[in-house]
Amino acid sequence: MEMLTDSLLTEEEARSFLPLLFKEIPVSIAVSEKTSDTDSVILAVNDEYCKLTGFSRSELIGKDTSVLRDMIRPEDLGRIQAMLASGQSLTNMEIVWKQKDGTEKWALSSTRLLFLSQRTLLVNIALDIGLQKQAERNLAVKYEELQATYEELVAMEETLHQQHDELKEADARLALSEERFRLATEMSEIGLLDSDLLQPGQPFWLSGNWLYKLGLDHLPLPIEREMYVQRIHPQEQPERANRFAALLGGHSSLFEMEYRIRDREDNWLWVLVRGNIIRDDRGKPIRLIGTMTDISELKNREMQRYYQATHDELTGLLNRRGFMEAIAMRFTDRQPVTGAFLVVDIDGFRFINDVHGQEVGDEFLQAFARHLKDSFPQDTVLARFGADEYLAFFPELMDAAAAINLFQPLAVVLLQTSAGSFAARSSGGFFLCGGQEGTPESYLQKAVLAMHHAKIVEKSACYIYEPLMQAVAVRRHAIREGLSQALQNQEFFLQYQPIYAIEAITERVIGFEALLRWRSPSLGMVSPAEFIPVAEETNLILPIGEWVMQEACQFFSGLDAQKGSAATVSVNVSVRQLLSPGFSNRVRSILQQCDLPPGQLGIEVTESIMMTDEQHNIAVLNELRAMGVSISLDDFGTGYSSFTYLQKLPIDVLKVDKSLIDEIAQPDRNALLLMESLVQMSRLLGYRIVAEGIENSDQLVLLRQIGCGACQGYLLGKPMSAEAVREQYPSIGS
Ligand code: C2E
Ligand code: MG
Ligand code: MG
Repeated sequence: MEMLTDSLLTEEEARSFLPLLFKEIPVSIAVSEKTSDTDSVILAVNDEYCKLTGFSRSELIGKDTSVLRDMIRPEDLGRIQAMLASGQSLTNMEIVWKQKDGTEKWALSSTRLLFLSQRTLLVNIALDIGLQKQAERNLAVKYEELQATYEELVAMEETLHQQHDELKEADARLALSEERFRLATEMSEIGLLDSDLLQPGQPFWLSGNWLYKLGLDHLPLPIEREMYVQRIHPQEQPERANRFAALLGGHSSLFEMEYRIRDREDNWLWVLVRGNIIRDDRGKPIRLIGTMTDISELKNREMQRYYQATHDELTGLLNRRGFMEAIAMRFTDRQPVTGAFLVVDIDGFRFINDVHGQEVGDEFLQAFARHLKDSFPQDTVLARFGADEYLAFFPELMDAAAAINLFQPLAVVLLQTSAGSFAARSSGGFFLCGGQEGTPESYLQKAVLAMHHAKIVEKSACYIYEPLMQAVAVRRHAIREGLSQALQNQEFFLQYQPIYAIEAITERVIGFEALLRWRSPSLGMVSPAEFIPVAEETNLILPIGEWVMQEACQFFSGLDAQKGSAATVSVNVSVRQLLSPGFSNRVRSILQQCDLPPGQLGIEVTESIMMTDEQHNIAVLNELRAMGVSISLDDFGTGYSSFTYLQKLPIDVLKVDKSLIDEIAQPDRNALLLMESLVQMSRLLGYRIVAEGIENSDQLVLLRQIGCGACQGYLLGKPMSAEAVREQYPSIGS
């Protein structure tokens, strides 16, 4: 009883205490006696031991401990046997008891060897540590779970890290793409707009660059739609509203429109706005997303190109295309054209250009355009059409008299240029359109026809289109066609009309006027009054005129009757011929060729030479005069005859037009008085006078009375063939 040695218990008390302790203590105790190195016999076990092993006391007491062997794991058994063999105690060894029913119990086992007189006792004390072990196992499981969780966590963390990295990368990519997008939108000037269509007032977001551009950057986002809409150009407002309504109504899915919008400096920007509606499941519009692009530069360039394509660079007026488009815009199929088309052509503009140079010509055309603008009502559509042709459309004008009145200020007008002032004469043609069948192009064609008619019939006047003009134009075309072959087909011939001196009672022939005749195989005889203007227009007058000169000189040179006389042959010369280079030299060589003295050739020119490069013309006339050729001013008293011409022009003969001679026998005597003063004036200025178109003897008597020296007319002699002249005039001149 070692354990009780320090106690106050007596040995006997201690001995009696032992069975109690053996019985009650919750520790398994077994006492056995060693019988060999490997075996022992169980002497005593307490209840706890029975519980631990699952054996009853009787199954244990007196039995060899080998009964317990199967109950212990081989590794535990090995240690126990080693202990027995070594004779040493074993303390606090954890062993597992496999109970009879197979369950396992953990025990903390200590075995002591007690050496008594002849016996060696083994005292085994075991503490059931099942709960502890269970807890330990639980703990281990928990730990394992924890470990697993931990591992999972680690794995998860890793994934998270990875995801985080990916996210970061994605973020960076997103930031980069956003940055790119921002830069792109800023640089490309594209604005993004996003509007909530469900909110009242449909507020919307607009990218910063555009808020700034439009001067809306002071407003908090989202801005009210109205603030934006207010800035749109009033002209484009209705269409924009219509299109937007169509978009909302589902009639169109895409909104696309170009319109002007006021920027922060109150300038108009052209923008292209594209939008798309997002709808809910039921198709109700909920959101509008779109872009806006500044297309001002593009638009301005486009408008500039359009302007250039539709305007005349020189005058700033519309050109033909611009004119046609303006007309087309005004009228539709349902709304027929009503109004007046006018075509104006400047008479003889070509000469201004040829003589004074293109710069002066340009100034002249610009001045004329200004004059048109100033003379016509504000709503006139005005255009320049060719070099010297202008177009005008007067909306609503349907009255012929009013149309003629409108043209009045254009017939003759004085225009200023850097080379001096020029009289611009023009011819005009109207087509009054009251919704007749046709296209603007065909209406214009009719106005052109009327203008051409004016040119033929009466220059510096204006005509209103009549269907008859079509026939005139057709004939004129036929003349033009026929003339081009006439010379080479020898369809021309000359007639000669005698010119008489009438001072003496018996008239005598002092010369002949050569008059051109054309017998066309298709048109028959055509009057020079009809074909000469066409020949002039086509420049055919140059070869034809030369032929006339040649033919007349040849004829007159071969006429025996005139030999040695002072009689002349007069040839009509167009201003085109005078203007053609080297004219006087050609006349000289014809005279030489025909062996006709220059003094026997006269040329007849009209005042039209004063309307085109008078200085040049005067110089040519002086050259001819210097040669000895005489110059007649033909048709005096018609058109714009001016006495100042008489003073300027180097002339020898004044031929007074038939229109004045027709009047001299009238009772009011005005024409006679005028004629008388012309006669006196010519005498003072030193030229001869010839009265044209005398048809009756009254006229002849009166002319003789007022001292007119010469005349020409049916009364005394009609134009006749060369043969007739040879036969009828055996002698002429002095
Ligand atoms: P003009 O030079 O004034 O010629 C006179 C015109 O009056 C001629 O008409 C002549 O036939 C006509 N005439 C003469 N006496 C009378 C008369 O008593 N009564 C009437 N009713 N008429 C009379 P024609 O031959 O038809 O010539 C018309 C115009 O054609 C000429 O007017 C002239 O300007 C032009 N012309 C004629 N031949 C030529 C030519 O070879 N070259 C050019 N450039 N023009 C020509
Ligand atoms: Mg003549
Ligand atoms: Mg004449």
